[in-house]
Order: sequence, then structure tokens, then C-alpha cells
Amino acid sequence: MQKLKDKILKEGTLRENNILKVDSFLNHQIDIAFMNEIGVEFKNRFSNVKVDKIVTIEASGIAIASIVSQHFGNVPVVFAKKTESKNLDNEVYKSKVYSYTKGKEYDIMIAKKYISENENILILDDFLANGAAALGLIDLLRQAKANIVGVGIVIEKSFQVGAERIISEGLRLESLAKIKSLDGKIEFK
Ligand code: 5GP
Repeated sequence: MQKLKDKILKEGTLRENNILKVDSFLNHQIDIAFMNEIGVEFKNRFSNVKVDKIVTIEASGIAIASIVSQHFGNVPVVFAKKTESKNLDNEVYKSKVYSYTKGKEYDIMIAKKYISENENILILDDFLANGAAALGLIDLLRQAKANIVGVGIVIEKSFQVGAERIISEGLRLESLAKIKSLDGKIEFK
């Protein structure tokens, strides 16, 4: 998506550990008009699949999924919550995720009542790096026996292993911008 690449080049800033900050439009301030363009793009890419629900992870995924949903007929959005790993609750699906940006492991959970067997689920997230967040969501959805129709990512860091891991799970991956390297400057694939 050329407009996304232009925006990343114009507004993105680099941090240590290969972190790209896009706080001006995606992760802190949100450019709603642009999010709608992202919604149109995801809808075009997933036009041939039935989507009953969009699943994402808090926090940044929520805004993206909420706007993108409106381009998929206002399907419900469910976001996995990040929890402390103490009390086990029978009413939730749980999985573990290692956070790339925070350098620690945490649990994610979704209440069982919000995901049904055979429901067609599109997973969405802002970034794909090593794939931990996406694989955690995939694990939850497989526990629920849902049907994962694809994974949509706004910014894929293709030099990390996340994309390969999702594809090797046999899932369709659509990333709107693919970054080849962040070594001093941003280079797209
Ligand atoms: P993964 O789980 O694929 O290793 O990392 C993806 C998650 O980490 C995303 O949900 C995102 O919140 C965060 N993340 C990974 N890399 C970056 C980055 O370069 N910039 C930002 N802003 N978030 C990132």
C-alpha cells in the first residue's frame, strides 16, 4: 500500500532494537481518515473470504480493528486481554505471548462466550515482528475451534520471523507494508 509506505517514511521514527514508532497515525494519535483507507485495503485483499468476526489484541489493535470492521459489514470485534498469569478461569481461552517491545512474557485471554466453533475469524494487528502476538491469538482461536480465514497486518517487519511462522501454520497473511530493514533507515521489501 503505497500511501502507507509514504506515511511511514514521512512520519516514522526509529528506536533501538529495530523498533519503528508510528505514533503520529497508528499507535498513539490515530488518523481516522487514513484508518478508513486501511479498512478499504484489507477489505479488497480479503474480499473473497467470509468474515464473521475480527479478533485482535489490546491495545493498539483495537482502534484498527474497530475501523476496519466497518468495511466488513460492521462485524463484531473481539480483543484479547492481557492478564497476569495467576488465577485460572475456566470461562476463558488463554495463551502465552512474549512481548518483543517490552521484553517480557504475559498471558492473553478471550472469554469463551465471544468465540464460537466454526466462526470465521480474521485476525488483525498493527505490527508483525517475531509473530508471538499473532501466534498467541491463533492458539486461542484454535482452542475455540474457530476457522481462521486470515491474518491482516498493517506493518510487517519482514526481517524478523513472524511472517514465516504464520505462513508455516498454513494461514493466509496479508501485510500492507513490508519492511526489509530498519538499519539506520527504513527500507521496504
Ligand atoms: P511480535 O509479537 O510479532 O513479535 O510483535 C508484534 C507486537 O509487538 C505488535 O502487537 C506490536 O504491538 C509490537 N511491535 C513489534 N515491533 C514493533 C515496532 O517496531 N513498533 C511498534 N510500535 N510496535 C511493535
